[in-house]
Amino acid sequence: MTDLTSLTLAEARKGLADKTFTSLELTDAHLSAIEKARLLNAFVLETPDQARSMAREADAKLAKGEAGPLAGIPLGIKDLFATKGVRTTACSKILGNFVPTYESTVTSQLWRDGAVMLGKLNNDEFAMGSANETSCFGPVGNPWRREGNNTTLVPGGSSGGSASAVAALLCMGATATDTGGSIRQPAAFTATVGIKPTYGRCSRWGIVAFASSLDQAGPIARSVRDSAMLLRSMAGHDPKDTTSVDIAVPDYEAAIGKSVKGMKIGIPKEYRLDGMPAEIEKLWSEGAAWLKAAGAELVEVSLPHTKYALPAYYIVAPAEASSNLARYDGVRYGLREQGKSITELYENTRASGFGAEVRRRVMIGTYVLSAGYYDAYYLRAQKVRTLIKKDFEDCFAKGVDAILTPATPSAAFGIGEKGGADPVEMYLNDIFTVTVNMAGLPGIAVPSGKDAQGLPLGLQLIGRPFDEETLFSLGEVIEQAAGRFTPARWW
Ligand code: GLN
Repeated sequence: MTDLTSLTLAEARKGLADKTFTSLELTDAHLSAIEKARLLNAFVLETPDQARSMAREADAKLAKGEAGPLAGIPLGIKDLFATKGVRTTACSKILGNFVPTYESTVTSQLWRDGAVMLGKLNNDEFAMGSANETSCFGPVGNPWRREGNNTTLVPGGSSGGSASAVAALLCMGATATDTGGSIRQPAAFTATVGIKPTYGRCSRWGIVAFASSLDQAGPIARSVRDSAMLLRSMAGHDPKDTTSVDIAVPDYEAAIGKSVKGMKIGIPKEYRLDGMPAEIEKLWSEGAAWLKAAGAELVEVSLPHTKYALPAYYIVAPAEASSNLARYDGVRYGLREQGKSITELYENTRASGFGAEVRRRVMIGTYVLSAGYYDAYYLRAQKVRTLIKKDFEDCFAKGVDAILTPATPSAAFGIGEKGGADPVEMYLNDIFTVTVNMAGLPGIAVPSGKDAQGLPLGLQLIGRPFDEETLFSLGEVIEQAAGRFTPARWW
């Protein structure tokens, strides 16, 4: 039998249905891979007992022919999703050993469909970061390294644990969240597929909030088809989240292999940055050529407000974060530091519970929302946001079906290499992804090639609201042309 961890989710589904192996065998293979990969620090909590009992349950259902669409498939869960009875920390000291008494809607739908939980995955503290370096559990290693070089690289962030675990074959897929790029950027850094669906497609209920008007859950997977399978289970209307939309969830997998002939693909000229590495430029042209060869038509489009997206995002996101994070006061959850008064208790708890990046965001957010500055910063950023959204609407109104861009401005970098002296250096990673969150649109990152040092690079496709299907069809074309990439094992 081939190594069970190297299968795609779709292949594993077939093997389980054909009784070639059991979910318990598949789960055990992944649990043992996780044990051998602790160096990567992708998991912050392993739940082997729960995994085996869920696998046995799935095997019983498979035997009876009552299996759900993800029956017996072992997954990793980003530690931002509340899991009932299982520690959930958002990788922040301030949540301490918080054990939720409830399950997030997204994860409960995965369990409803038969998936198996292997454990909780590392992420940037409260999902703030682009390198998974702000986690209170320490950084995550990218399974990819530069050719002939042993430097450990970051897997991207904030869903760094999710991307690293999927790329290192520790789980067959993972949940992730994306506020400004946190699904797509780590997917691009690790040669995995990540889709951020349209805002409102997945319920945010039970996901630790960062910036509520931008946060959206989605999967990171080994192939475009696998990501379609996972999103189908994760998506759906939930009365517990008023921003979740009551539109039927399509069979995303049916979009795989569908012809893209005649589709109009926009190439936004504003995404051609000065000083962008030639390799990224080359990858972008290659991607366009693959789509053209499949029958799509390429058109240059303009998204004139792109240059304001990053500054506006770094006002809107911290503003919402400062308000969302007000609840961590040392009284309601996790960590509590003592103080002589209740105010001092709050101050001491928040000072020692939040890491530096989170404190920075809370301070920026509080400042831009404060009386006297609100209009100049927050209100203006909201207006810019409307213009960014309108840029995309204008483009789609001209008949464009999807937009092709690079996913990131560079390949993965070394731990500690970026953002030490200047946080903006780190924020620049999100330049191609934040626009999509600001506009609430779906975006997928698909592995598309490698740079001269052998590191993976990804392309991004941006779609119309609730048209994830077109992204899956186009993503499949890129995947077929580029192939799939697996890192050589060193851990
Ligand atoms: N890197 C961005 C930030 O730090 C996006 C994070 C995310 O999408 N959660 O805010």
